[in-house]
Amino acid sequence: MREKIVASNWKMNKTLYEGLNLVRDLQMAMNGKTINCNIIVCPPFIHLASLATLTFSGIVRLGAQNCSDKASGAYTGEVSAAMLASVGIHYVILGHSERRAYYGETNAMLKEKVKLALNHVLQPIFCIGEVLAEREAGIQKEVVEKQIRESLFDLSAKEFGNIVLAYEPVWAIGTGKTATSEQAQEMHAFIRATIADKYGSAVAEETSILYGGSCNAGNAKELFTNPDVDGGLIGGASLAVETLLPIIEAFS
Ligand code: PEP
Repeated sequence: MREKIVASNWKMNKTLYEGLNLVRDLQMAMNGKTINCNIIVCPPFIHLASLATLTFSGIVRLGAQNCSDKASGAYTGEVSAAMLASVGIHYVILGHSERRAYYGETNAMLKEKVKLALNHVLQPIFCIGEVLAEREAGIQKEVVEKQIRESLFDLSAKEFGNIVLAYEPVWAIGTGKTATSEQAQEMHAFIRATIADKYGSAVAEETSILYGGSCNAGNAKELFTNPDVDGGLIGGASLAVETLLPIIEAFS
């Protein structure tokens, strides 16, 4: 059975105090409930070490939102995969559309980041997805296939087994416009078939593929009921317990 996951992407939100409170409140709200998915919280880099002390033995696991494409050295402002691993981080979001669009991250650069993350036993949550013009041109499958192929398909099957994918149609991120359940399932099934073509169906069946893009309490259950949707990468709705908890509980 592949893992079901609800991952929070805080982006550049929350002071340390606010972040600590959010995680503490989330842990308290889940206390005594049966939780049927893995919960990952990805705060800004600067909060990771503090949050690691809070989440040390609990159900919430931590991820970063990025890491450097270089191992170490004179790269001012960068944070390496080794540094993340050293503070007890398990996951790292790579290839988020905001990183691709605003910071020029390319498929080739992301391939380096993925390798470094895996070398330090971090599981990449690797984001893929088309922009609106590509969806309107009907080339969303080609776009997503190229992102996967150019950044991930140099990995061995064993290495690929550590990848979590997040399909995030860029036109749905932060816009309140969610992909329909059918659109999500169609793309997730296509992504799984692409993985199966390269690594075989056993690897494809074990790969968790999350949906991201205005996922919320109202649509999570319907999205997660699809056979190829294994959870969500949640932006806006992850910033408060009241909006995140119902998404987690959609895995009833
Ligand atoms: C995201 O940024 O990964 C995301 C899915 O954001 P939102 O849920 O706000 O659309």
